[in-house]
This record gives sequence, structure tokens and C-alpha cells, in this order.
Amino acid sequence: MNTVVLAVIYVAVGAGILYGVFRIVKLFGAGVGRIKEIADKIEAGDVEAQQTPKSLSAVDSLVLPRILKDFPEFDIQLMKRRAEQDAMRYLGSLQNRKSQFTEKDGIRSFLERMEELVNWTATAPKWLRPRVHRAALSNYENRSNYCYVTYQVAYQYEMNERTWQKKLEIRYLAADEPDMEKKISVYNCPNCGAPVGSIGQKKCEYCGTVLNPSAILSWYIFEINEIA
Ligand SMILES: [Zn+2]
Repeated sequence: MNTVVLAVIYVAVGAGILYGVFRIVKLFGAGVGRIKEIADKIEAGDVEAQQTPKSLSAVDSLVLPRILKDFPEFDIQLMKRRAEQDAMRYLGSLQNRKSQFTEKDGIRSFLERMEELVNWTATAPKWLRPRVHRAALSNYENRSNYCYVTYQVAYQYEMNERTWQKKLEIRYLAADEPDMEKKISVYNCPNCGAPVGSIGQKKCEYCGTVLNPSAILSWYIFEINEIA
């Protein structure tokens, strides 16, 4: 009698253990399946992220009328192309560890920062096929004597067998010469010498002389920053 009871207990316990093992294996298998599924999703997202250029904050319609009020000759297409070219030159400068910008391109402090940047870079980044997608006007600031136009540029390069989508911000300053640090008040009335309060000002407040200071200004790179 006792042996029969024991046998029943053994069978019951054995079945319980087997079932437990079965459950664990099943759960584990499902877990592996889930992990693989998640990994596939991440990989798919990653591939998409590699192929999708960074989105730019483009505000042309908001900003352009304000720029044109101060700078009637502002050429939106030309500046866009220039921002794209400046982005390529920035990447080329880092890649070749030699600044490709000259006195015509940027203010002195920017040129100095570029020199420092290319000299500080211990080894040239191994970017392959750097390419600019596009540039977009992202901001305009008129701070009385100083006017800035900002462009965002989406670009990509290949490195370590994947594509990296990146973004730069280029800020241009309207100035009549690159050595802006020398001059605090940039503009004076050509007739009476009174300071001109704003670049967009069309008439001297003191003598009424018609001003067109923006005509003599060029856009110099003020700074270039990598942004997220
Ligand atoms: Zn005047």
C-alpha cells in the first residue's frame, strides 16, 4: 500500500518538475523571440535613422521679410548655396586638418577658432563621402549695430560602416570688414558722423541724410557649431 502511494507521489512530483522545466524553456524561448524582435526593430529604426537627413528648423517665411526690410539686396538662393558650401568647407577643414576659410569668409575670431580647432584635432576624422543635404534659413537677429543671419545645414558622412546624419548651424554677421572686434560702433552717418542706431535705418536721425549702409556690408561667418 505504501509503495503505491509513494509511486503516485513520485509520478506527481516528476510531472510537476517536468512541467516546470517545460514552462521555463517555453518562457525562455518566447523571451529570445521577443529580444530578437526588438533587436530587429532597433536595427530597422537605425537603418532609417541613417538614411533620413536631420530635420531643419526652416523659418524662411517668418524671417525673410525682416531680412529684406534691412537688406533689400539679400539674395536668399545665393546665401543658401553659400551656407551649403561653407558647411562642406568646414567638414573639409576638419578632415584635412587645415582651415579652408580665408579673410573673405569669416571674421577674425572665427578664423582663429578654426585654426585652433584643426590644430587641436589629434587625428583627422575618418569620414567617407561627406555630403550636404540642404541648408535652411533658421534665424535673423537685428541687434542695432550687429545683424546676424543663421542657417542650419543637414549633412551626412560614412564612418565605421554606417552613415551618420548630422547638423550644423552657421551664423553670419553683416559687417563692412572682418575685423569687427576693432570697432564698437560700426556705422556712422557719412554726412555728419552721427552713429547710426540700426543697420536697417534708412535716414540719419540727425541730419536726414538717406542711408544705405547695408549696401556696403558683406556676410561674414561669425561662428559654426555642430548641433543635435
Ligand atoms: Zn547725419
